[in-house]
Amino acid sequence: MATTWRTTRISQFSEEDYDLVVIGGGATGCGIALDAVTRGLKTALIEKNDFASGTSSRSTKLIHGGLRYLKQFEISLVRETGSERAIVHKLAPHLVVPEKMLLPIIENGTYSKSLTSLGLKVYDVLAGVKKEDRRKMLNKAQTLEKEPLLNPTVVKGGGYYAEYRTDDARLSLELIKTAVQKGVHAANYVEGIDFIYGEVNGEKKIRGIICQDSLTQDTFQLKAKQIINAAGPWVDELRKTNQSLSGKHLHLTKGVHIVLPHVVFPVRQSVYFDSPDGRMVFAIPRGKITYVGTTDTDYKGDKHHPRTTQEDIAYLLQAVNHLFPGLDIQKESIISSWAGLRPLVHEEGKSASEISRKDEIFFSESGLISIAGGKLTGYRKMGQRVVNAALKAMDRKHVPSKTHRITLCGGEFDDFDEVKAFKEALREKLSQGELPDYYADYLVGNYGKQVVGVLSNFEEQDEADKELALLLAELQFAIEKEMVLYPTDFFIRRTGRLYFDIESVYTYKLPIIRYFAQHFAWSEQELQEAENQLDRALTEASTFPPEQQEKVLQKVES
Ligand code: FAD
Repeated sequence: MATTWRTTRISQFSEEDYDLVVIGGGATGCGIALDAVTRGLKTALIEKNDFASGTSSRSTKLIHGGLRYLKQFEISLVRETGSERAIVHKLAPHLVVPEKMLLPIIENGTYSKSLTSLGLKVYDVLAGVKKEDRRKMLNKAQTLEKEPLLNPTVVKGGGYYAEYRTDDARLSLELIKTAVQKGVHAANYVEGIDFIYGEVNGEKKIRGIICQDSLTQDTFQLKAKQIINAAGPWVDELRKTNQSLSGKHLHLTKGVHIVLPHVVFPVRQSVYFDSPDGRMVFAIPRGKITYVGTTDTDYKGDKHHPRTTQEDIAYLLQAVNHLFPGLDIQKESIISSWAGLRPLVHEEGKSASEISRKDEIFFSESGLISIAGGKLTGYRKMGQRVVNAALKAMDRKHVPSKTHRITLCGGEFDDFDEVKAFKEALREKLSQGELPDYYADYLVGNYGKQVVGVLSNFEEQDEADKELALLLAELQFAIEKEMVLYPTDFFIRRTGRLYFDIESVYTYKLPIIRYFAQHFAWSEQELQEAENQLDRALTEASTFPPEQQEKVLQKVES
């Protein structure tokens, strides 16, 4: 996955004859590629922007069963995603980490005490949660002890249960890196623009795809027996290109998260709480910050740049200030944000939050297989199902999926205890050097065992500013191992810093851009473009237009 290798890969793409080409490098597409290659299919994957640049870097970043889907009686969805949590944790224990969730029971809230108790019990049973991890019901004093910031006048008790936290973009990256290790040919910044058809037994069937490299604008062909469309919010666009967009279609809803410094919203632990309109919102502490989300509103604007609006902020802050009234958090405290689009399958008459999160597979007459809906948590099962469908369509012998036992890059730990010990050893090491021990969590969470490579780069730096030296070490790693092309790839998807440590982006953006420019021999114009792109990402994350203005802007852009 070295960045330099990308050019070689692209030049070799047209020489191959693939069994399967996957369109889309989000969690779904990367999961499909890993499943396919390990079942013996010669597989390629193309991503039109950066890996995980769509919804898979903009989620709530939980590997969860979706407690609220129980209320909608989505039993099979909860069972599947619930039991997937422990499996995905095993595959990448540094990246999918146990995170206890507190669900406060409040007066006139969504969940009563008995419903919470029963719901969490069913949740544990469906997900097969181990005895020691099962839910505990807390009284008022115990709930306030777990989270003293909660409003004592409305809190009546709480449910305390097991979930997992992750980083969606890093999960997608580790999936594609693992898939590439197993033999997948993958490239980012390559767009699938049209399909190639041929005649098979007198029928018009897809036989490949015309692609465009966004860096050079060159076009080339990929030959494939089968193509899977895992384009997330863009699934219907490819179905349209394939002239197969009929019947079911996507319904996009926007979800926003806001980021506050942890000192402003110093929750001790993750909380899943009622907003005044009865929806549920997460507050999740992570290193230097706490993030809060999400909203769920219908969306028809520009899919590449959904924005957090004033109205989204007002909604989330109202929810926070309602249950944590002592804080009185104002919008000026928000340092960053992200907005993502859920690629849901439309259901007539249902509102945004009522639509099922189940995944669905669509088959076109010419052979395009599209997958939509679903959750990050269910990426592995979705991959399994869609590859089963592809094997069948290709008339291939069924080979069982193996992904439940394929450790992801960086996840080579025996168990979570080893992750903790590894982190402690790093914390100890950092405390003797010039980096704050905050970086122990950050580095192990991001890179797992691969931290050894990052630290070896760090030791080679002769930069006096150690924080910059670390960033340069990470960048070197991303260039050598993670096909990073632009500063936005680096600050958003490789390191998560734009969301979780935006200050470091403002402070170090220029030296990092200069390193890119020098390393890739950019012209002055290329450097300027990269800087503009990063400035736009910073503006999008930290400024919030009113809804109305956003709608006008979207109209102009589209
Ligand atoms: P994407 O990540 O959008 O990937 C599709 C990719 O296809 C994009 O990168 C795009 O650039 C690429 N593409 C499109 N067209 C082309 C083309 N023509 N050629 C090449 N590439 C193309 N799930 C959970 O399990 N836990 C959560 O906590 C959670 N929270 C969420 C919160 C929000 C606000 C949202 C919006 C979703 C959340 N989800 C969560 C759901 C989860 O994020 C999504 O189900 C998942 O990320 C979708 O991944 P994907 O790969 O299908 O789509």
